[in-house]
Order: sequence, then structure tokens, then C-alpha cells
Amino acid sequence: MHEMAVAESILHTILEQAERLGGARPIAARISCGQFNALNDETMQFAFESISEGTLCEGMRLEIVHIPLRARCRQCRATFAFDVYRPMCPECEHAEFDFQPDAPLLLEDIEFQDPSE
Ligand SMILES: [Zn+2]
Repeated sequence: MHEMAVAESILHTILEQAERLGGARPIAARISCGQFNALNDETMQFAFESISEGTLCEGMRLEIVHIPLRARCRQCRATFAFDVYRPMCPECEHAEFDFQPDAPLLLEDIEFQDPSE
């Protein structure tokens, strides 16, 4: 289960950022992932909830964005989101294409509570 390792690394990064901001309280974060390193949403939420208990991050909202794998058609060079149920170029219907690099696992954004609130 790589979600636990990801949750730990994300928690660590968020706490570091919070400290740098003088102990600001994080309220939400957005993570994006590709198809090969995809996170299971429920497992990820659960892992993060359990390890953030008792930290500044307790009760934070996590949003997980899944980025589709993209491919480039060998015939017309169009790039498109790969669909496993229709593995062909949507432009010319050619079935030969090359996969683009998978999206990395990224902590895209952390939202902190406004200190004036
Ligand atoms: Zn094509």
C-alpha cells in the first residue's frame, strides 16, 4: 500500500510549510497523480486521517486529482487522453501510438487558514 508512504511524505511537507509560515493551520491540500502511481482515494484519505491525528493537519481536506495517461498518434501526431476502452487515436482512429510520460505524484497546493480568521 503506497498510500501510507505518500501520506507520510505529504504530512511531513505540509507540516514543514506550516512551520515556515509561523504555525499557520493547513485546511486543505490538493495532490495529483498519474495512472501508474495512482492513489486510491479512500485508502489515501484514511491513511492521511490516521497519521495526521494530533498534528496541525488533523481534519484537513485532501483532494486527489487523477491525471489521465496521454498518448501521441504515430500517424497524425495528435495527442490524446488514453482510453483503455477505445485504444485508438480519436482524430484518425489509427491504433498505433506512443505513450507520453505518466504524470508524477505531486503535492500541488496547500491552503492555509487566514491568520486573521
Ligand atoms: Zn491520429
